[in-house]
Amino acid sequence: MSECTHATRILRFKIDSRGRYMYIYQCGTCHFRIEPWLKKSCLDGQRATPFDVQAESEAKQRHYEARRREWRSRYEQHLRSDKWREICRLVKRRDRGICQECLESVGEHVHHLTYERMGDELLSDLVLLCRGCHEEIHPHMTVDREAAKSFTSKWIPQ
Ligand SMILES: [Zn+2]
Ligand SMILES: [Zn+2]
Ligand SMILES: [Zn+2]
Repeated sequence: MSECTHATRILRFKIDSRGRYMYIYQCGTCHFRIEPWLKKSCLDGQRATPFDVQAESEAKQRHYEARRREWRSRYEQHLRSDKWREICRLVKRRDRGICQECLESVGEHVHHLTYERMGDELLSDLVLLCRGCHEEIHPHMTVDREAAKSFTSKWIPQ
């Protein structure tokens, strides 16, 4: 999704909990607010209309959903890559094939401690876990059997 340049700015007002008027521009295209809040003395006599809270919240939701979808598809593509398979091989070797949580069971899944470098992970971003320990970390998600076989983690973060 391309970023909006906020080319159309509409002057809006909101009334705060103490009944004071607050002014800000709202983008006419994406409906996001354009910080900063403005002082009345800066308005130069322009007329303001009420801030469209609903349009902004719908726009935000669409925006974050699109970003999440984009992230997921990049993530899933990464999990199918040879690079990821190689990373998993190294994690498994480093952790000697044993779950690093319980230190008992055979490690089956590579778990992300952080997604900060997703696609370009450091080995320290990852840890080998058994299925049981992994499920405890992601209680609301299901694992892909095929992916589990190849030591890939198929958990999709929210
Ligand atoms: Zn905009
Ligand atoms: Zn375990
Ligand atoms: Zn995980």
